[in-house]
Amino acid sequence: MDRLTGIGVSSGIAVGRAVILTQRTEVMRFPIPPDRIEREVQALHSARDLSRQQLRDISARIAQGPASELAALFDAQILMLDDEMLIGQAEKIVREERVNAAWAVHRAYEGLFELFSKMEDPYLRERENDVADVAGRLRMNLRHGARGPKELLSQIDGPSILIADELTASVAAQLDWSRVQGFATDAGSRTYHTAILARSLKVPAIVGLHDASLRIVAGTPLVLDGTTGELVVSPSPEAIDEAQRRAAWPRRKGTGAGEAGPIVTTDGVRVRLEANIELLEDLEYLNEYGAEGVGLYRSEFMLSGRALESVTEDEQYAMYRSLIEQVAPRPVTIRTFDLDERQVSRDQLRPERRRTRPGLRGLRLGLANPDLLRTQLRALVRASAHGPLRIMFPFVTGVEEVRQARAMLTAEASAFGRIAPGQIQVGAMIEVPSAALAADLLAPDVDFFTIGTNDLIQYSLAVDRTDDRVSDLYEPLHPAVLRLIRVVRRAAARHRIPVSLCGEMASDPALVGLLVGLGLTEFSMTPGAIPIVRQVVQELSAQDARRLAGHALRLATAAEIEEYLFDALAASAIQRSPSS
Ligand code: PEP
Ligand code: MG
Repeated sequence: MDRLTGIGVSSGIAVGRAVILTQRTEVMRFPIPPDRIEREVQALHSARDLSRQQLRDISARIAQGPASELAALFDAQILMLDDEMLIGQAEKIVREERVNAAWAVHRAYEGLFELFSKMEDPYLRERENDVADVAGRLRMNLRHGARGPKELLSQIDGPSILIADELTASVAAQLDWSRVQGFATDAGSRTYHTAILARSLKVPAIVGLHDASLRIVAGTPLVLDGTTGELVVSPSPEAIDEAQRRAAWPRRKGTGAGEAGPIVTTDGVRVRLEANIELLEDLEYLNEYGAEGVGLYRSEFMLSGRALESVTEDEQYAMYRSLIEQVAPRPVTIRTFDLDERQVSRDQLRPERRRTRPGLRGLRLGLANPDLLRTQLRALVRASAHGPLRIMFPFVTGVEEVRQARAMLTAEASAFGRIAPGQIQVGAMIEVPSAALAADLLAPDVDFFTIGTNDLIQYSLAVDRTDDRVSDLYEPLHPAVLRLIRVVRRAAARHRIPVSLCGEMASDPALVGLLVGLGLTEFSMTPGAIPIVRQVVQELSAQDARRLAGHALRLATAAEIEEYLFDALAASAIQRSPSS
Protein backbone atom coordinates (compact mmCIF):
# COMPACT_ATOMS: atom_id res chain seq x y z
CA MET A 1 0.00 0.00 0.00
CA ASP A 2 1.38 3.35 -1.03
CA ARG A 3 -0.08 6.83 -0.55
CA LEU A 4 0.39 9.69 -2.98
CA THR A 5 -0.83 13.12 -2.05
CA GLY A 6 -1.85 15.82 -4.47
CA ILE A 7 -4.50 18.50 -4.50
CA GLY A 8 -8.11 17.39 -4.27
CA VAL A 9 -10.08 19.47 -6.73
CA SER A 10 -13.38 17.64 -6.96
CA SER A 11 -14.68 15.90 -3.90
CA GLY A 12 -15.87 12.32 -3.53
CA ILE A 13 -14.39 8.86 -3.30
CA ALA A 14 -13.57 6.64 -6.24
CA VAL A 15 -12.48 3.02 -6.26
CA GLY A 16 -11.17 1.22 -9.33
CA ARG A 17 -8.25 -0.11 -11.26
CA ALA A 18 -5.67 2.18 -12.78
CA VAL A 19 -5.83 3.08 -16.44
CA ILE A 20 -2.91 5.18 -17.55
CA LEU A 21 -3.19 7.82 -20.23
CA THR A 22 -0.06 9.48 -21.50
CA GLN A 23 -1.30 12.33 -23.61
CA ARG A 24 2.10 13.65 -24.54
CA THR A 25 2.48 10.62 -26.75
CA GLU A 26 -1.24 10.05 -27.23
CA VAL A 27 -0.91 6.48 -26.09
CA MET A 28 -3.05 4.79 -23.54
CA ARG A 29 -1.61 2.02 -21.43
CA PHE A 30 -3.85 -0.55 -19.88
CA PRO A 31 -3.51 -4.11 -18.65
CA ILE A 32 -4.96 -6.96 -20.64
CA PRO A 33 -6.18 -10.29 -19.27
CA PRO A 34 -4.16 -13.40 -20.28
CA ASP A 35 -6.83 -14.54 -22.73
CA ARG A 36 -6.51 -11.29 -24.65
CA ILE A 37 -2.76 -11.51 -25.29
CA GLU A 38 -3.08 -13.41 -28.56
CA ARG A 39 -5.67 -10.94 -29.84
CA GLU A 40 -3.40 -8.05 -28.99
CA VAL A 41 -0.43 -9.68 -30.72
CA GLN A 42 -2.67 -10.36 -33.70
CA ALA A 43 -3.68 -6.68 -33.74
CA LEU A 44 -0.01 -5.76 -33.73
CA HIS A 45 0.69 -7.98 -36.73
CA SER A 46 -2.35 -6.69 -38.59
CA ALA A 47 -1.21 -3.11 -37.95
CA ARG A 48 2.22 -4.04 -39.31
CA ASP A 49 0.69 -5.58 -42.46
CA LEU A 50 -1.53 -2.56 -43.01
CA SER A 51 1.41 -0.20 -42.46
CA ARG A 52 3.52 -2.19 -44.92
CA GLN A 53 0.80 -1.94 -47.54
CA GLN A 54 0.40 1.79 -46.99
CA LEU A 55 4.13 2.38 -47.23
CA ARG A 56 4.39 0.30 -50.41
CA ASP A 57 1.61 2.33 -52.00
CA ILE A 58 3.28 5.57 -51.02
CA SER A 59 6.65 4.44 -52.26
CA ALA A 60 5.20 3.28 -55.60
CA ARG A 61 3.37 6.56 -56.12
CA ILE A 62 6.38 8.65 -55.26
CA ALA A 63 8.65 6.57 -57.49
CA GLN A 64 6.52 7.62 -60.46
CA GLY A 65 6.48 11.30 -59.58
CA PRO A 66 9.03 14.13 -59.92
CA ALA A 67 10.67 13.43 -56.54
CA SER A 68 11.22 9.75 -57.26
CA GLU A 69 14.41 9.65 -55.22
CA LEU A 70 12.31 10.06 -52.07
CA ALA A 71 10.76 6.64 -52.60
CA ALA A 72 13.84 5.03 -51.03
CA LEU A 73 12.97 6.67 -47.71
CA PHE A 74 9.76 4.71 -47.56
CA ASP A 75 11.45 1.51 -48.62
CA ALA A 76 13.73 1.98 -45.61
CA GLN A 77 10.66 2.40 -43.41
CA ILE A 78 9.22 -0.85 -44.76
CA LEU A 79 12.41 -2.61 -43.65
CA MET A 80 12.08 -1.07 -40.19
CA LEU A 81 8.63 -2.58 -39.91
CA ASP A 82 10.22 -6.00 -39.98
CA ASP A 83 12.95 -5.14 -37.53
CA GLU A 84 12.91 -7.44 -34.54
CA MET A 85 13.78 -4.50 -32.32
CA LEU A 86 10.50 -2.83 -33.11
CA ILE A 87 7.75 -5.38 -33.71
CA GLY A 88 9.59 -8.28 -32.03
CA GLN A 89 10.27 -6.17 -28.98
CA ALA A 90 6.71 -4.84 -28.91
CA GLU A 91 5.35 -8.37 -29.06
CA LYS A 92 7.61 -9.36 -26.19
CA ILE A 93 6.32 -6.42 -24.13
CA VAL A 94 2.70 -7.37 -24.83
CA ARG A 95 3.35 -10.95 -23.72
CA GLU A 96 5.56 -10.27 -20.74
CA GLU A 97 3.97 -7.13 -19.32
CA ARG A 98 0.43 -7.91 -20.50
CA VAL A 99 -0.24 -4.46 -21.83
CA ASN A 100 -1.99 -3.22 -24.95
CA ALA A 101 -0.15 -3.27 -28.28
CA ALA A 102 -0.11 0.50 -28.87
CA TRP A 103 1.67 1.03 -25.59
CA ALA A 104 4.10 -1.79 -26.36
CA VAL A 105 4.95 -0.17 -29.71
CA HIS A 106 5.56 3.09 -27.93
CA ARG A 107 7.90 1.41 -25.43
CA ALA A 108 9.81 -0.43 -28.15
CA TYR A 109 10.12 2.82 -30.08
CA GLU A 110 11.55 4.61 -27.04
CA GLY A 111 14.23 1.94 -26.76
CA LEU A 112 15.15 2.33 -30.42
CA PHE A 113 15.08 6.10 -30.20
CA GLU A 114 17.62 6.03 -27.42
CA LEU A 115 19.84 3.76 -29.44
CA PHE A 116 19.69 5.97 -32.53
CA SER A 117 20.23 9.21 -30.67
CA LYS A 118 23.51 7.89 -29.26
CA MET A 119 24.88 7.07 -32.71
CA GLU A 120 27.88 8.98 -33.95
CA ASP A 121 27.06 8.66 -37.60
CA PRO A 122 24.84 11.64 -38.50
CA TYR A 123 23.14 9.65 -41.27
CA LEU A 124 22.11 6.94 -38.84
CA ARG A 125 21.14 9.49 -36.20
CA GLU A 126 18.78 11.07 -38.68
CA ARG A 127 17.01 7.75 -39.05
CA GLU A 128 15.42 8.35 -35.68
CA ASN A 129 12.80 10.45 -37.48
CA ASP A 130 11.96 7.50 -39.66
CA VAL A 131 11.62 5.26 -36.63
CA ALA A 132 9.29 7.82 -35.10
CA ASP A 133 7.30 7.88 -38.31
CA VAL A 134 7.00 4.11 -38.49
CA ALA A 135 6.04 3.80 -34.84
CA GLY A 136 3.48 6.61 -35.27
CA ARG A 137 1.99 4.82 -38.28
CA LEU A 138 1.75 1.56 -36.37
CA ARG A 139 0.05 3.26 -33.45
CA MET A 140 -2.33 5.05 -35.78
CA ASN A 141 -3.26 1.77 -37.45
CA LEU A 142 -3.69 0.12 -34.09
CA ARG A 143 -5.88 2.97 -32.94
CA HIS A 144 -7.94 2.68 -36.08
CA GLY A 145 -9.29 -0.61 -34.84
CA ALA A 146 -9.85 0.61 -31.31
CA ARG A 147 -10.97 4.20 -32.04
CA GLY A 148 -9.75 6.31 -29.19
CA PRO A 149 -9.84 6.41 -25.39
CA LYS A 150 -13.59 5.93 -25.08
CA GLU A 151 -13.58 2.59 -26.86
CA LEU A 152 -10.35 1.54 -25.19
CA LEU A 153 -11.87 2.16 -21.80
CA SER A 154 -14.97 0.24 -22.73
CA GLN A 155 -12.77 -2.82 -23.20
CA ILE A 156 -11.64 -2.72 -19.60
CA ASP A 157 -13.45 -4.86 -17.10
CA GLY A 158 -14.94 -3.19 -14.04
CA PRO A 159 -14.63 0.33 -12.70
CA SER A 160 -11.46 2.26 -13.45
CA ILE A 161 -9.61 5.34 -12.32
CA LEU A 162 -7.83 7.36 -14.94
CA ILE A 163 -4.28 8.42 -14.18
CA ALA A 164 -3.05 10.87 -16.81
CA ASP A 165 -0.02 13.07 -17.24
CA GLU A 166 -2.54 15.73 -18.20
CA LEU A 167 -6.15 15.55 -19.23
CA THR A 168 -7.27 17.73 -22.06
CA ALA A 169 -10.88 18.64 -22.33
CA SER A 170 -11.43 17.01 -25.68
CA VAL A 171 -10.23 13.66 -24.36
CA ALA A 172 -12.14 14.06 -21.10
CA ALA A 173 -15.30 14.84 -23.00
CA GLN A 174 -15.06 11.58 -24.92
CA LEU A 175 -14.73 9.28 -21.94
CA ASP A 176 -17.65 7.39 -20.54
CA TRP A 177 -17.74 8.77 -17.01
CA SER A 178 -20.17 6.14 -15.88
CA ARG A 179 -17.26 3.69 -16.17
CA VAL A 180 -14.44 5.96 -15.07
CA GLN A 181 -14.90 6.56 -11.37
CA GLY A 182 -12.42 9.38 -10.97
CA PHE A 183 -9.20 10.78 -12.30
CA ALA A 184 -5.85 12.09 -11.18
CA THR A 185 -3.27 14.02 -13.14
CA ASP A 186 0.46 14.62 -12.84
CA ALA A 187 -0.08 18.21 -13.92
CA GLY A 188 -0.03 20.63 -11.07
CA SER A 189 -2.12 23.04 -9.13
CA ARG A 190 -1.71 25.75 -11.73
CA THR A 191 -4.11 23.92 -14.00
CA TYR A 192 -7.33 25.17 -12.56
CA HIS A 193 -8.82 24.03 -15.76
CA THR A 194 -8.66 20.39 -14.73
CA ALA A 195 -10.52 21.35 -11.61
CA ILE A 196 -13.28 23.04 -13.55
CA LEU A 197 -13.48 20.05 -15.77
CA ALA A 198 -13.73 17.61 -12.87
CA ARG A 199 -16.46 19.59 -11.22
CA SER A 200 -18.45 20.01 -14.40
CA LEU A 201 -18.17 16.24 -14.96
CA LYS A 202 -19.00 15.63 -11.30
CA VAL A 203 -16.19 13.13 -10.82
CA PRO A 204 -13.76 12.96 -7.89
CA ALA A 205 -10.35 14.22 -8.96
CA ILE A 206 -6.85 15.00 -7.77
CA VAL A 207 -4.22 17.09 -9.55
CA GLY A 208 -0.53 17.70 -8.96
CA LEU A 209 0.65 14.12 -8.47
CA HIS A 210 3.88 14.85 -10.37
CA ASP A 211 4.90 11.48 -11.82
CA ALA A 212 2.00 9.23 -10.85
CA SER A 213 1.33 8.31 -14.49
CA LEU A 214 4.83 6.88 -14.70
CA ARG A 215 4.92 5.22 -11.29
CA ILE A 216 1.55 3.51 -11.17
CA VAL A 217 1.30 0.23 -13.00
CA ALA A 218 -1.78 -0.15 -15.19
CA GLY A 219 -4.36 -2.40 -13.54
CA THR A 220 -3.32 -1.63 -9.96
CA PRO A 221 -6.27 -1.19 -7.56
CA LEU A 222 -6.65 2.40 -6.36
CA VAL A 223 -8.71 4.44 -3.94
CA LEU A 224 -8.96 8.13 -4.78
CA ASP A 225 -10.21 10.72 -2.34
CA GLY A 226 -10.93 13.96 -4.14
CA THR A 227 -11.62 15.77 -0.89
CA THR A 228 -8.29 15.10 0.83
CA GLY A 229 -6.23 14.78 -2.36
CA GLU A 230 -5.03 11.31 -1.37
CA LEU A 231 -4.52 8.45 -3.78
CA VAL A 232 -3.98 5.04 -2.21
CA VAL A 233 -2.16 2.59 -4.46
CA SER A 234 -2.80 -1.14 -3.86
CA PRO A 235 -5.05 -0.60 -0.83
CA SER A 236 -5.88 -3.49 1.51
CA PRO A 237 -9.20 -5.32 0.92
CA GLU A 238 -10.57 -3.66 4.08
CA ALA A 239 -9.59 -0.22 2.82
CA ILE A 240 -11.35 -0.96 -0.48
CA ASP A 241 -14.51 -2.09 1.32
CA GLU A 242 -14.52 1.01 3.46
CA ALA A 243 -13.93 3.29 0.46
CA GLN A 244 -16.71 1.59 -1.49
CA ARG A 245 -19.13 2.34 1.31
CA ARG A 246 -18.16 5.98 1.22
CA ALA A 247 -18.21 6.22 -2.55
CA ALA A 248 -21.89 7.09 -2.74
CA TRP A 249 -21.13 10.01 -5.01
CA PRO A 250 -24.05 11.26 -7.07
CA ARG A 251 -22.77 10.11 -10.43
CA ARG A 252 -23.38 11.79 -13.67
CA LYS A 253 -25.33 9.68 -16.10
CA GLY A 254 -23.37 7.76 -18.72
CA THR A 255 -22.41 9.98 -21.59
CA GLY A 256 -22.32 7.42 -24.34
CA ALA A 257 -25.62 7.64 -26.10
CA GLY A 258 -26.97 10.56 -28.05
CA GLU A 259 -30.46 11.82 -27.48
CA ALA A 260 -32.64 13.10 -30.24
CA GLY A 261 -34.45 16.42 -30.30
CA PRO A 262 -33.44 20.05 -30.16
CA ILE A 263 -31.06 21.20 -27.47
CA VAL A 264 -32.16 24.18 -25.40
CA THR A 265 -30.89 25.87 -22.28
CA THR A 266 -33.11 26.01 -19.19
CA ASP A 267 -34.32 29.44 -20.32
CA GLY A 268 -35.14 28.34 -23.84
CA VAL A 269 -32.12 29.34 -25.94
CA ARG A 270 -31.66 26.89 -28.81
CA VAL A 271 -28.12 25.56 -29.18
CA ARG A 272 -26.93 23.54 -32.20
CA LEU A 273 -24.26 20.89 -31.83
CA GLU A 274 -22.58 19.50 -34.92
CA ALA A 275 -19.63 17.18 -35.44
CA ASN A 276 -16.07 17.65 -36.71
CA ILE A 277 -15.20 14.82 -39.06
CA GLU A 278 -11.93 13.69 -40.56
CA LEU A 279 -12.74 10.26 -41.93
CA LEU A 280 -15.89 8.91 -43.50
CA GLU A 281 -15.84 6.10 -40.97
CA ASP A 282 -16.48 8.70 -38.26
CA LEU A 283 -19.95 9.25 -39.71
CA GLU A 284 -21.25 6.22 -37.86
CA TYR A 285 -20.88 8.29 -34.69
CA LEU A 286 -23.14 11.05 -35.95
CA ASN A 287 -26.35 9.24 -35.09
CA GLU A 288 -24.93 7.58 -32.00
CA TYR A 289 -24.05 10.93 -30.45
CA GLY A 290 -26.92 12.93 -31.93
CA ALA A 291 -24.97 15.40 -34.09
CA GLU A 292 -27.15 17.86 -35.94
CA GLY A 293 -24.87 17.91 -38.96
CA VAL A 294 -21.21 18.05 -39.88
CA GLY A 295 -19.91 21.48 -38.90
CA LEU A 296 -16.38 20.83 -40.12
CA TYR A 297 -15.14 18.23 -42.54
CA ARG A 298 -11.36 18.57 -42.74
CA SER A 299 -11.08 17.64 -46.41
CA GLU A 300 -7.28 17.34 -46.39
CA PHE A 301 -7.65 14.10 -44.46
CA MET A 302 -9.03 12.39 -47.55
CA LEU A 303 -5.54 12.60 -49.01
CA SER A 304 -4.23 10.25 -46.29
CA GLY A 305 -0.64 10.73 -47.27
CA ARG A 306 -1.12 11.18 -51.00
CA ALA A 307 0.12 14.10 -53.01
CA LEU A 308 -2.60 16.67 -53.62
CA GLU A 309 -2.17 16.60 -57.41
CA SER A 310 -2.83 12.91 -57.49
CA VAL A 311 -6.40 13.17 -56.22
CA THR A 312 -8.71 13.63 -59.19
CA GLU A 313 -11.85 15.72 -59.40
CA ASP A 314 -13.98 12.59 -59.84
CA GLU A 315 -12.45 10.96 -56.80
CA GLN A 316 -13.15 14.05 -54.73
CA TYR A 317 -16.68 14.34 -56.08
CA ALA A 318 -17.46 10.72 -55.16
CA MET A 319 -16.15 11.25 -51.67
CA TYR A 320 -18.01 14.54 -51.04
CA ARG A 321 -21.18 13.13 -52.53
CA SER A 322 -21.03 10.11 -50.27
CA LEU A 323 -20.47 12.36 -47.25
CA ILE A 324 -23.38 14.64 -48.15
CA GLU A 325 -25.75 11.77 -48.87
CA GLN A 326 -24.94 9.99 -45.65
CA VAL A 327 -25.51 13.09 -43.55
CA ALA A 328 -28.57 14.48 -45.40
CA PRO A 329 -31.01 15.98 -44.62
CA ARG A 330 -28.61 17.43 -42.07
CA PRO A 331 -26.12 19.95 -43.47
CA VAL A 332 -22.44 19.32 -44.15
CA THR A 333 -19.79 22.01 -44.04
CA ILE A 334 -16.75 21.02 -46.07
CA ARG A 335 -13.60 22.99 -45.55
CA THR A 336 -11.32 23.26 -48.56
CA PHE A 337 -7.86 21.75 -48.12
CA ASP A 338 -6.00 23.24 -45.19
CA LEU A 339 -2.46 22.29 -46.07
CA ASP A 340 0.79 24.13 -46.06
CA GLU A 341 3.26 24.18 -48.90
CA ARG A 342 5.25 21.24 -47.57
CA GLN A 343 2.21 19.08 -47.93
CA VAL A 344 1.14 19.75 -51.48
CA SER A 345 3.25 17.25 -53.32
CA ARG A 346 4.89 15.26 -50.62
CA ASP A 347 3.73 12.62 -48.30
CA GLN A 348 3.65 14.77 -45.23
CA LEU A 349 0.07 14.74 -44.13
CA ARG A 350 -0.78 12.37 -41.38
CA PRO A 351 -3.90 12.69 -39.31
CA GLU A 352 -1.94 12.92 -36.09
CA ARG A 353 0.32 15.67 -37.37
CA ARG A 354 -0.88 19.14 -36.65
CA ARG A 355 0.01 22.04 -38.83
CA THR A 356 1.76 24.73 -36.93
CA ARG A 357 3.39 26.79 -39.60
CA PRO A 358 1.92 29.99 -40.91
CA GLY A 359 3.04 31.13 -44.37
CA LEU A 360 1.65 29.62 -47.53
CA ARG A 361 -1.22 27.68 -46.04
CA GLY A 362 -4.98 27.13 -46.29
CA LEU A 363 -6.80 29.46 -48.66
CA ARG A 364 -3.58 31.34 -49.46
CA LEU A 365 -2.05 28.14 -50.70
CA GLY A 366 -5.19 27.39 -52.73
CA LEU A 367 -5.06 30.79 -54.40
CA ALA A 368 -1.36 30.33 -55.14
CA ASN A 369 -2.22 26.99 -56.80
CA PRO A 370 -5.48 27.97 -58.50
CA ASP A 371 -5.74 24.79 -60.56
CA LEU A 372 -5.80 22.67 -57.42
CA LEU A 373 -8.36 24.89 -55.70
CA ARG A 374 -10.50 25.00 -58.85
CA THR A 375 -10.50 21.23 -59.07
CA GLN A 376 -11.72 20.98 -55.50
CA LEU A 377 -14.38 23.65 -56.01
CA ARG A 378 -15.63 21.90 -59.15
CA ALA A 379 -15.94 18.63 -57.25
CA LEU A 380 -17.78 20.42 -54.44
CA VAL A 381 -20.18 22.18 -56.81
CA ARG A 382 -21.06 18.85 -58.42
CA ALA A 383 -21.51 17.20 -55.03
CA SER A 384 -23.75 20.02 -53.81
CA ALA A 385 -26.49 18.76 -56.11
CA HIS A 386 -26.93 15.83 -53.70
CA GLY A 387 -27.80 17.57 -50.45
CA PRO A 388 -27.26 20.61 -48.23
CA LEU A 389 -23.61 21.65 -48.53
CA ARG A 390 -21.75 24.63 -47.14
CA ILE A 391 -18.22 25.41 -48.31
CA MET A 392 -15.74 26.96 -45.93
CA PHE A 393 -12.33 28.49 -46.60
CA PRO A 394 -9.56 27.95 -44.04
CA PHE A 395 -6.88 30.32 -42.84
CA VAL A 396 -8.56 33.43 -44.25
CA THR A 397 -6.65 36.59 -43.44
CA GLY A 398 -8.58 39.26 -45.32
CA VAL A 399 -11.34 40.28 -47.69
CA GLU A 400 -9.38 40.00 -50.98
CA GLU A 401 -8.77 36.31 -50.47
CA VAL A 402 -12.43 35.58 -49.87
CA ARG A 403 -13.50 37.61 -52.88
CA GLN A 404 -11.05 35.79 -55.15
CA ALA A 405 -12.11 32.39 -53.86
CA ARG A 406 -15.80 33.23 -54.17
CA ALA A 407 -15.28 34.42 -57.73
CA MET A 408 -13.64 31.09 -58.55
CA LEU A 409 -16.53 29.23 -56.98
CA THR A 410 -19.12 31.30 -58.87
CA ALA A 411 -17.30 30.61 -62.13
CA GLU A 412 -17.29 26.87 -61.44
CA ALA A 413 -20.95 26.90 -60.43
CA SER A 414 -21.94 28.81 -63.60
CA ALA A 415 -19.93 26.40 -65.76
CA PHE A 416 -21.65 23.46 -64.09
CA GLY A 417 -25.00 25.05 -64.80
CA ARG A 418 -27.17 22.98 -62.49
CA ILE A 419 -26.51 24.95 -59.35
CA ALA A 420 -27.99 28.41 -58.91
CA PRO A 421 -25.48 31.03 -57.79
CA GLY A 422 -25.99 31.52 -54.09
CA GLN A 423 -27.37 28.04 -53.58
CA ILE A 424 -24.18 26.98 -51.85
CA GLN A 425 -23.47 28.82 -48.63
CA VAL A 426 -19.89 30.08 -48.43
CA GLY A 427 -18.12 30.75 -45.16
CA ALA A 428 -14.80 31.87 -43.78
CA MET A 429 -12.93 30.26 -40.95
CA ILE A 430 -11.96 32.89 -38.46
CA GLU A 431 -8.73 31.53 -37.06
CA VAL A 432 -6.20 34.26 -37.71
CA PRO A 433 -6.35 37.42 -35.59
CA SER A 434 -6.49 39.67 -38.67
CA ALA A 435 -9.70 37.95 -39.79
CA ALA A 436 -11.20 38.19 -36.31
CA LEU A 437 -10.45 41.89 -36.00
CA ALA A 438 -11.71 42.58 -39.51
CA ALA A 439 -14.75 40.31 -39.16
CA ASP A 440 -17.13 43.22 -39.80
CA LEU A 441 -15.38 43.83 -43.13
CA LEU A 442 -15.45 40.16 -44.06
CA ALA A 443 -19.06 39.58 -43.13
CA PRO A 444 -20.66 41.15 -46.24
CA ASP A 445 -18.66 38.76 -48.43
CA VAL A 446 -19.61 35.50 -46.73
CA ASP A 447 -22.72 33.64 -45.62
CA PHE A 448 -21.31 32.44 -42.32
CA PHE A 449 -18.32 32.44 -40.00
CA THR A 450 -16.75 29.53 -38.19
CA ILE A 451 -14.33 30.40 -35.42
CA GLY A 452 -11.33 28.05 -35.34
CA THR A 453 -10.00 28.56 -31.85
CA ASN A 454 -7.12 26.07 -32.24
CA ASP A 455 -5.32 28.37 -34.62
CA LEU A 456 -6.82 31.58 -33.28
CA ILE A 457 -5.27 30.94 -29.86
CA GLN A 458 -1.97 29.91 -31.35
CA TYR A 459 -1.63 32.99 -33.54
CA SER A 460 -3.07 35.58 -31.22
CA LEU A 461 -0.83 34.46 -28.36
CA ALA A 462 2.18 33.70 -30.58
CA VAL A 463 2.45 30.23 -29.07
CA ASP A 464 3.44 27.16 -30.98
CA ARG A 465 1.82 24.33 -29.08
CA THR A 466 4.45 21.85 -30.15
CA ASP A 467 7.23 23.96 -28.64
CA ASP A 468 7.59 22.72 -25.06
CA ARG A 469 9.18 25.96 -23.92
CA VAL A 470 6.03 27.97 -24.58
CA SER A 471 3.21 25.45 -24.85
CA ASP A 472 2.23 26.31 -21.27
CA LEU A 473 1.24 29.72 -22.54
CA TYR A 474 -1.39 28.29 -24.85
CA GLU A 475 -4.39 29.62 -22.94
CA PRO A 476 -7.91 29.31 -24.37
CA LEU A 477 -9.04 31.56 -21.53
CA HIS A 478 -6.59 34.35 -22.27
CA PRO A 479 -8.57 37.63 -22.19
CA ALA A 480 -7.39 38.43 -25.73
CA VAL A 481 -8.88 35.19 -27.04
CA LEU A 482 -12.22 35.81 -25.37
CA ARG A 483 -12.30 39.34 -26.71
CA LEU A 484 -11.55 38.16 -30.24
CA ILE A 485 -14.41 35.69 -30.00
CA ARG A 486 -16.70 38.48 -28.84
CA VAL A 487 -15.60 40.74 -31.70
CA VAL A 488 -16.42 38.03 -34.24
CA ARG A 489 -19.76 37.19 -32.64
CA ARG A 490 -20.79 40.82 -32.64
CA ALA A 491 -19.75 41.38 -36.25
CA ALA A 492 -21.76 38.32 -37.28
CA ALA A 493 -24.80 39.54 -35.36
CA ARG A 494 -24.61 43.02 -36.90
CA HIS A 495 -24.47 41.53 -40.38
CA ARG A 496 -27.04 38.87 -39.55
CA ILE A 497 -24.91 35.91 -40.52
CA PRO A 498 -24.56 32.74 -38.44
CA VAL A 499 -21.38 32.07 -36.53
CA SER A 500 -20.24 28.78 -35.07
CA LEU A 501 -17.16 27.68 -33.17
CA CYS A 502 -15.34 24.48 -34.14
CA GLY A 503 -12.01 24.48 -32.28
CA GLU A 504 -11.24 22.22 -29.34
CA MET A 505 -12.77 24.80 -27.01
CA ALA A 506 -16.20 23.70 -28.26
CA SER A 507 -15.76 20.20 -26.89
CA ASP A 508 -14.73 21.38 -23.46
CA PRO A 509 -17.67 20.93 -21.08
CA ALA A 510 -16.07 23.37 -18.67
CA LEU A 511 -16.11 26.19 -21.21
CA VAL A 512 -19.52 25.78 -22.82
CA GLY A 513 -21.20 28.09 -20.32
CA LEU A 514 -18.72 30.84 -21.01
CA LEU A 515 -19.10 30.45 -24.79
CA VAL A 516 -22.89 30.50 -24.61
CA GLY A 517 -22.51 33.56 -22.39
CA LEU A 518 -20.45 35.19 -25.14
CA GLY A 519 -23.48 34.74 -27.37
CA LEU A 520 -22.49 31.64 -29.31
CA THR A 521 -25.18 29.06 -29.96
CA GLU A 522 -23.61 26.88 -32.67
CA PHE A 523 -20.74 24.54 -32.03
CA SER A 524 -18.98 21.80 -33.92
CA MET A 525 -16.84 19.33 -32.05
CA THR A 526 -15.37 15.90 -31.91
CA PRO A 527 -18.47 13.63 -32.09
CA GLY A 528 -17.80 11.87 -28.78
CA ALA A 529 -18.01 15.18 -26.91
CA ILE A 530 -21.56 15.93 -28.03
CA PRO A 531 -23.43 14.03 -25.27
CA ILE A 532 -21.56 15.68 -22.40
CA VAL A 533 -21.76 19.13 -23.97
CA ARG A 534 -25.48 18.62 -24.60
CA GLN A 535 -25.96 17.74 -20.97
CA VAL A 536 -24.10 20.83 -19.79
CA VAL A 537 -26.10 23.06 -22.15
CA GLN A 538 -29.38 21.61 -20.96
CA GLU A 539 -28.49 22.42 -17.36
CA LEU A 540 -27.43 25.95 -18.23
CA SER A 541 -29.30 29.22 -18.02
CA ALA A 542 -28.22 31.45 -20.91
CA GLN A 543 -28.98 34.49 -18.81
CA ASP A 544 -26.64 33.32 -16.03
CA ALA A 545 -24.07 32.41 -18.68
CA ARG A 546 -24.18 35.95 -20.06
CA ARG A 547 -23.57 37.36 -16.59
CA LEU A 548 -20.71 34.93 -16.12
CA ALA A 549 -19.12 35.90 -19.45
CA GLY A 550 -19.63 39.59 -18.75
CA HIS A 551 -17.70 39.28 -15.52
CA ALA A 552 -15.01 37.00 -17.01
CA LEU A 553 -14.35 39.56 -19.73
CA ARG A 554 -13.47 42.16 -17.14
CA LEU A 555 -10.72 40.00 -15.63
CA ALA A 556 -7.12 40.59 -16.60
CA THR A 557 -5.52 37.16 -16.82
CA ALA A 558 -6.35 33.61 -17.91
CA ALA A 559 -5.62 32.39 -14.39
CA GLU A 560 -8.14 34.83 -12.90
CA ILE A 561 -10.74 33.79 -15.44
CA GLU A 562 -10.13 30.12 -14.69
CA GLU A 563 -10.41 30.70 -11.00
CA TYR A 564 -13.59 32.69 -11.45
CA LEU A 565 -15.16 29.93 -13.58
CA PHE A 566 -14.12 27.36 -11.02
CA ASP A 567 -15.70 29.28 -8.17
CA ALA A 568 -18.86 29.91 -10.18
CA LEU A 569 -19.15 26.23 -10.97
CA ALA A 570 -18.53 25.21 -7.39
CA ALA A 571 -21.22 27.68 -6.24
CA SER A 572 -23.77 26.38 -8.73
CA ALA A 573 -22.94 22.79 -7.71
CA ILE A 574 -23.69 23.70 -4.09
CA GLN A 575 -26.96 25.37 -5.12
CA ARG A 576 -27.99 22.29 -7.06
CA SER A 577 -27.06 19.73 -4.43
CA PRO A 578 -29.90 18.47 -2.23
CA SER A 579 -30.03 20.19 1.20
CA SER A 580 -29.46 16.97 3.09
C1 PEP B 1 -9.09 25.44 -35.63
O1 PEP B 1 -8.06 26.02 -35.99
O2 PEP B 1 -9.67 25.68 -34.56
C2 PEP B 1 -9.68 24.38 -36.46
C3 PEP B 1 -10.83 23.82 -36.15
O3 PEP B 1 -8.97 23.96 -37.52
P1 PEP B 1 -7.78 22.88 -37.42
O4 PEP B 1 -7.79 22.32 -36.04
O5 PEP B 1 -8.09 21.87 -38.47
O6 PEP B 1 -6.59 23.73 -37.74
MG1 MG C 1 -7.37 25.73 -37.98
